[in-house]
Amino acid sequence: MLGFELSEPATLDEAFDLLADGDPGVRPMGGGTALMLMMKAQIFKPERLVSLRNVGGCFDGLRIDADRSHIRIGGMTTFAEIECSPMVLQHLPAVVRTMKTLANIRVRHVASVGGNLAHADPHLDLPPVWMTHAASIRIVSKTGERVIPVEDLFAGYYETTLEGGELIAEVIVPVRPEWTSTYVKVTTRSAHDWPALGIAVSANLQGRRVNDLRLVLSAALDRPTRLVAAENELRGSDLDEAALKRAGEAAVAEVDIHSDSRGSAAYKQHLLRVHLSRAMHSLVGV
Ligand SMILES: Cc1cc2nc3c(=O)[nH]c(=O)nc-3n(C[C@H](O)[C@H](O)[C@H](O)COP(=O)(O)OP(=O)(O)OC[C@H]3O[C@@H](n4cnc5c(N)ncnc54)[C@H](O)[C@@H]3O)c2cc1C
Repeated sequence: MLGFELSEPATLDEAFDLLADGDPGVRPMGGGTALMLMMKAQIFKPERLVSLRNVGGCFDGLRIDADRSHIRIGGMTTFAEIECSPMVLQHLPAVVRTMKTLANIRVRHVASVGGNLAHADPHLDLPPVWMTHAASIRIVSKTGERVIPVEDLFAGYYETTLEGGELIAEVIVPVRPEWTSTYVKVTTRSAHDWPALGIAVSANLQGRRVNDLRLVLSAALDRPTRLVAAENELRGSDLDEAALKRAGEAAVAEVDIHSDSRGSAAYKQHLLRVHLSRAMHSLVGV
């Protein structure tokens, strides 16, 4: 790995100043777990990393709004903090279950929520889960801030819509007690491996009737993607085998799945049909 400078600003304003000139050799750092791998492989050769570890404010911790409508997770919150939070377990149990399948305990103690999203690897486990929970992100820069749905962050393989100098300050997740969620990570090697396919589902159910739902596919395209046609097959339907079959076929038809080192496109299409149905079944407890 080549030498580089590490800056550790104590305030957000200092961080903005260090990142301000838009130099591609200067990058913000969350936990550094993705950056270090890219630097060791010399895919990325930074002159300086700007750690966000000490900037504080809304970048840190977990809180719930006074009216209990939203949970706010700071961009520098680690996966381990989320995994161990009773508040997240109570309101977003699918997020905690997803954490337990992600990487390993050493990575989860340093990787940050903001760094995870900004990395934009389409195989990441959490982004599809945030998307089915209808989460947004607050993006801050020296000149202002904006809030966008998580799905609008992704622009392609490892590409985001973040402008130079913009930072992910927090993830904002609505609390929806009437919705139930799950994430299916299909791995072909070990349980903690990267997924060959990921399917995240959130649904508002009344018995077996699907009032509303969100379905997101990951590890199969250049970014996590809503399966809108499959959602339309299930919304307003009873969850029976015929509806699930129609939804599986609609899902396979609406996306152009890519092959990768964990499976061919044809194999992933098969996984999608099978695991979409299993994910929906698991929501109704069968
Ligand atoms: C051994 C190993 C196994 C793994 N297994 C899995 C797995 O099974 N499933 C999975 O989903 N992931 C897995 N990961 C990936 C892991 O989730 C990511 O490395 C991690 O989420 C990145 O977070 P970070 O804070 O370390 O990001 P960093 O490495 O610090 O940063 C990643 C990118 O985000 C930018 N950035 C960082 N913070 C911000 C911010 N707040 N605002 C804007 N840009 C920012 C950086 O400049 C960089 O481009 C694994 C990683 C390792 C090392």
